[in-house]
Amino acid sequence: MSRFWSPLVHDLKPYVAGEQPVMADIVKLNTNESPYGPSPRALEAIQAAATDALRLYPEPTSLKLREAIAKREGVKPDQVFVGNSSDEVLALVFQALLKQEKPLAFPDITYSFYPVWSQLFGVTTKIVPLDAAMRINVADYGDDCGAIIFANPNAPTGIALPRAEIEKLLQAHPDIPVVIDEAYVDFGAESAVRLIDRYPNLLVTHTLSKSRALAGLRVGVAIGSRDLIDALERVKDSFNSYPLDRIAQAGATAAYEDEEWFQASCAKVIASRERLTAELLALGFDVLPSKANFIFASHPAHKAADIFKALRGRAIIVRWFDKPRISDRLRISIGTDAECDRLVGALREILRWNEPGRRTD
Ligand SMILES: *Cc1c(COP(=O)(O)O)cnc(C)c1O
Repeated sequence: MSRFWSPLVHDLKPYVAGEQPVMADIVKLNTNESPYGPSPRALEAIQAAATDALRLYPEPTSLKLREAIAKREGVKPDQVFVGNSSDEVLALVFQALLKQEKPLAFPDITYSFYPVWSQLFGVTTKIVPLDAAMRINVADYGDDCGAIIFANPNAPTGIALPRAEIEKLLQAHPDIPVVIDEAYVDFGAESAVRLIDRYPNLLVTHTLSKSRALAGLRVGVAIGSRDLIDALERVKDSFNSYPLDRIAQAGATAAYEDEEWFQASCAKVIASRERLTAELLALGFDVLPSKANFIFASHPAHKAADIFKALRGRAIIVRWFDKPRISDRLRISIGTDAECDRLVGALREILRWNEPGRRTD
């Protein structure tokens, strides 16, 4: 608290990101990064961009990058918006599209940044509970909302809605902005991008941080009708004219041009996810059906918080959310098979040692 702060700052409840711990020989499965690293062509392009030209401002609209994204996604470059991470793109989306007279609707369990931006930008909200199976039910989004946002696959559940369900939602809400955050779509879900020409109120966001292994480069994407993209461009140009630096534009463009590397690493993550899911089921865990690069698991006989701490003691970092409805679960990012094996080995020990009869708490 300080008398120098703007009044708004006193009440902010900032987003708490997963930790980036510094430990020896760590298995880091807590922030859904890729275990495989970016395309070697992206790394080359990044190195090649580190020249004297950095004294000049970058191209403000990231045209080359938008062209590469448009080509890959089957849309026009002017239907693509890019920003310095999808978190930044989403923050602009909240200001440009989601602050309406009626409240913004989103699930009780979804990306926990949405309530933070709502507070920061003064957006009123309508929280719509997931059903008992932790699924989004599109029929639950009644007509008393001014906009809708959720992640698909949802986070941290990993559960994906089929495109047909998204289309039902769009048909039921033709007059309000609907934003689908597809941060994890590349791990087996159906993208809504192909619906944008039929639904001018649909905006889809993507990130290079997960499936393209460039969390450190900070590049995010929005795809939608000209009308929606125009709103984002207006807010962007009222906030930061050059959100993507020269290095980010070069690396992100090359990453989009290397479809082969992208497909191969997504396929490896999906295969490891299925393998890890089977192993956790064999250990007695309940695992939600995931189409993301993480799984969300609980154990009927062991507290998630206890398992979390015991794993941390073995330098294996996963994510535990101390929040209603999900505090019995752990969100585990998919690592390499070797990392998943270390996790499973540790869990075997922990479950044995931490048997209910032997608990001390
Ligand atoms: C990781 C994530 C983002 C943010 O991605 P960045 O581009 O790294 O900011 C957005 N939405 C969801 C649901 C995510 O999990």
